[in-house]
Amino acid sequence: MKLLDGREVAAFHRSRIERRIAELQKGHIQPKLVIFLVGGDKPSAMYAASMQKTARSVGLQADVYQYEAAVQEAELIARIEQCNADSSVFGILLMMPLPPHLDAQSVVNAIRPDKDADGLTDCNVARLFTGRPAFVPCTPQAVMAILDYYGVELAGKEVVVIGRSAVVGKPLAQLCLARNATVTQCHTGTADLKAVTRRGDVVIAAVGKAGLVTADMIKPGAVVIDVGINRVDGKTVGDVAFDEVAGVAGAVTPVPGGVGAVTTMMVLANVIGGTTHSM
Ligand code: NAP
Repeated sequence: MKLLDGREVAAFHRSRIERRIAELQKGHIQPKLVIFLVGGDKPSAMYAASMQKTARSVGLQADVYQYEAAVQEAELIARIEQCNADSSVFGILLMMPLPPHLDAQSVVNAIRPDKDADGLTDCNVARLFTGRPAFVPCTPQAVMAILDYYGVELAGKEVVVIGRSAVVGKPLAQLCLARNATVTQCHTGTADLKAVTRRGDVVIAAVGKAGLVTADMIKPGAVVIDVGINRVDGKTVGDVAFDEVAGVAGAVTPVPGGVGAVTTMMVLANVIGGTTHSM
């Protein structure tokens, strides 16, 4: 069994991003990432701080614009529009969730599509689903980056994606479809999950349920990508029962150190415009 090491993939992309930023700086361009943080959601604040730190570590300028939970939509959108017009701002990230009085998608859609670092605007979603170059959410991109780095060919293969969320499962299925895989998408309505996953040459779990994917669900030699992040007894684990699946699969991503290790780099790649997916 081959371990698909997300940290190695992240390191590869880090150096690519650093080189690109150094080139821009030589041309006296200092690209900037702006992160909008609204309200007191702790995980969002932690994610914003970690994103800012990583962005700075590759040479990007990274600012966090913090707002009280009671902020009005118009105020937020006006600031986003300023960033849209500011040529030093290369990327804009909006931490989710937003407080319930705000229409999250309206605020997201205020971001100019070519500065949409998380690929969440309706424009980028439509572009992805209609097969045009698009900025894609970072987690599905991280999965593709791992498959590409390890040379996993998707054309003609059966890919099974478990999960159909708008930010992970659905865009992932589109990306695999664009590579000429035969894609099956599973969810809570799937009648016989095991029967479907056993067909998969590549099985991608994006669910949020520890231990959901067991060895008997995997075809011998299949590639298994674990997107899930779950806390069990104080430990971070994925959706895949790693130890038993490792005995059957040809390759598996670990958790931690798999997909999650690559996602931040994919946001930064979007910021510098390096990974728009053309189909
Ligand atoms: P989500 O919005 O909760 O979606 C979960 C999906 O799993 C839904 O489509 C759901 O089906 C499906 N599902 C739930 N139970 C199932 C079951 N027993 N059998 C088959 N399908 C089932 O979650 P998400 O935002 O996509 O995230 C998925 C996981 O990835 C979470 O653990 C999250 O923490 C993790 N994640 C990781 C990263 C990373 O960087 N590694 C980034 C983002 C998210 P229905 O549609 O029918 O409800």
